[in-house]
Amino acid sequence: PPLFDMHPVKTLFKIPRNPPPTLLHPDKWCRGFNHFISQCLIKDFENRPSVTHLLEHPFIKQAHGKDMSLQKQLADLIQAQQQLGSITKTRYCAIHCSVVTIIHQLQKRYADLQIYTYVGDILIALNPFQNLNIYSPQFSKLYHGVKRSSNPPHIFASADAAYQGMVTFSKDQCIIISGESGAGKTESAHLIVQHLTFLGKANNRALREKILQVNPLVEAFGNACTAINDNSSRFGKYLEMMFTPTGAVMGAKISEYLLEKSRVIKQAVGEKNFHIFYYIYAGLFHQKKLSEYRLPEKKPPRYIDNETGRVMQDIITKDSYRQQFEAIQHCFRIIGFTDEEVHSVYRILAGILNTGNIEFAAISSQHQTDKSEVPNPEALDNAAALLSIGSEELQEALTSHCVVTRGETIVRTNTVDKAADVRDAMSKALYGRLFSWIVNRINTLLQPDKNICGMNVGILDIFGFENFTRNSFEQLCINIANEQIQFYFNQHIFALEQMEYQNEGIDATTVVYEDNRPLLDMFLQKPMGLLSLLDEESRFPQATDLTLVDKFEDNLRYKYFWRPKGVELCFGIQHYAGKVLYDAYGFLEKNRDTLPADIVVVLRTSENKLLQQLFSSPLTKTGISLHSFATFRASSPEVYISSPFHSLKFSHERVLVQLRYTGILETVKIRQKGYSHRILFEEFVKRYYYLAFKVHETPLGSRENCIAILEKSKLDNWILGKTKVFLKYYHIEQLNLFLREVI
Ligand code: ADP
Ligand code: MG
Repeated sequence: PPLFDMHPVKTLFKIPRNPPPTLLHPDKWCRGFNHFISQCLIKDFENRPSVTHLLEHPFIKQAHGKDMSLQKQLADLIQAQQQLGSITKTRYCAIHCSVVTIIHQLQKRYADLQIYTYVGDILIALNPFQNLNIYSPQFSKLYHGVKRSSNPPHIFASADAAYQGMVTFSKDQCIIISGESGAGKTESAHLIVQHLTFLGKANNRALREKILQVNPLVEAFGNACTAINDNSSRFGKYLEMMFTPTGAVMGAKISEYLLEKSRVIKQAVGEKNFHIFYYIYAGLFHQKKLSEYRLPEKKPPRYIDNETGRVMQDIITKDSYRQQFEAIQHCFRIIGFTDEEVHSVYRILAGILNTGNIEFAAISSQHQTDKSEVPNPEALDNAAALLSIGSEELQEALTSHCVVTRGETIVRTNTVDKAADVRDAMSKALYGRLFSWIVNRINTLLQPDKNICGMNVGILDIFGFENFTRNSFEQLCINIANEQIQFYFNQHIFALEQMEYQNEGIDATTVVYEDNRPLLDMFLQKPMGLLSLLDEESRFPQATDLTLVDKFEDNLRYKYFWRPKGVELCFGIQHYAGKVLYDAYGFLEKNRDTLPADIVVVLRTSENKLLQQLFSSPLTKTGISLHSFATFRASSPEVYISSPFHSLKFSHERVLVQLRYTGILETVKIRQKGYSHRILFEEFVKRYYYLAFKVHETPLGSRENCIAILEKSKLDNWILGKTKVFLKYYHIEQLNLFLREVI
């Protein structure tokens, strides 16, 4: 149950304005700043809601002194929201006042390396950028099955709450981790798995071992070094840990979303390809097996060598690559991949690297100017050999394509550019399908016994909302996914809670939150939503990215969509988290994500069984589909959100932006007004009747008896609905205390 609740009014003024965080229990300061917000709301801002007043508030001045940039940021935000015109001025002030307070507290705690903080159900984690000594098994024990308030905030406590919730209520749970790149999401996901594995002690040690290897293996294939994070996840991941009804681990399942396949063929300056390529290169180098995989020792393949020459040096000298290679082999073995499978995986990877080296040159004879040939046949031969296909067939498929018109098949040649595109599309498809295969194989190997009807805790680790200088198709997909999470989050925190008040006939002043349902409709509705329009346009061979944007403009009559003047391929979307301008260049191509049929035909002839399998299924779109993503909403009734923030130095601006993106501020509001415990009359009477009745009595679970108990206990501020007692968390603490005294 959330601890973030209002305290009785009388204690309001006991909370120091600037609590020294080290002296106060974290929960106390949570309450502290909550009161502070309500205080501000009531006393200062209700009647004087202007920006200047907010900025002149003594607390803000005191807290931030001359930190004008924060003040400016606040002012900007407020202005932006006023332009939107959807919320009242009072609410801006409340929200921004909360922001300032939260940031202030986070900062103070961070200075003491207290990286975790609760706000309601939410755990905020700040990246410490150093190893903290707080994740050992002793800590797992410390946080096992105890009240959240008995220990400092910790990610294990969130994992524990999910686990206990699952076991106690037999309900599936879901932990959502959001935040920007480098914030610590993936580390947090590991820590959650670690604690859940500790909790779900199966007799089956081997299974536990396997589950712990899943993340490292998948991440070797799905993570890469970027400008921001040396181990950045380039895919979204939903890991379900499955448990027996008594809470023992019995299996696991991963779903992957939106793998950044384009990284296989090209990386930005200062960035790298997926880790696995370097790992195998180093591993094979040290095993003196590079030549067996037709990988050159002198000049590494183009796909992994974007800073010419540097890579080989790293591969030879960096022990970590080699160690990682050994670790990956270990993972494969422990999880249960056969040697043959692993061997095939390596061959395909080496095949991809060699494919990247295939070059094309124009043959200019008099008649055919747009024909191309391969001037470096050794690369072609290497690629074909590793993929166990014929090199002539491969060359044919790369440099020409078949068109079927009126039952007749005509062979057309590819230009140099087109051939290079086909080559890269093939590499991307190979890698994407290999990745999906590995994930599926893991799922098969970790599948629980079908006869046991179990429960699960899901952990969602996806990239947060993205807004770059140039935003393309990938950003749109990521942002739509985040929009869905936001919707789900709103439902969980606000809508469901309000519905319960309504059902119980209680007038809880509704918390105004920005509902993003209309926005989601704009994206997902069929047949006129943005994604449907995109799919439809992708089916027209003559369509261009420009006709696509025209189509959007004609059909998406929403205030969230606009098209800036004078920039052809540009369109704007007002997301929940902010405005984003998208560049539609390449949208159709990326959405089609097709591989020429000629390539598929050749790859299907492979003698490599794994490769055959990768291309035997009908060509379905992989990776981009958001549909599978949407389904997770239905199955996950509980959410704990951890929103880690990147903060090398504690940066007000960035924390502020992320606080806004994650809906924490709204949560603060509802927790102030809400009742975290809602107990059916019967259950309440059964649990607490000692407090007003004799032990041998069996009073009815009626409304009157509930009142009797509550009055006898001298509690105030509770509410009765039609069937339930609504209590604040401190009521429960009080009642339990009385109960202990009576018994
Ligand atoms: P994200 O998945 O959000 O992009 P990561 O989880 O990969 O970020 O974190 C980036 C880096 O920050 C990690 O490689 C690690 O070095 C460091 N880090 C993150 N969380 C922690 C933590 N709790 N303790 C120590 N280091 C951490
Ligand atoms: Mg990550």
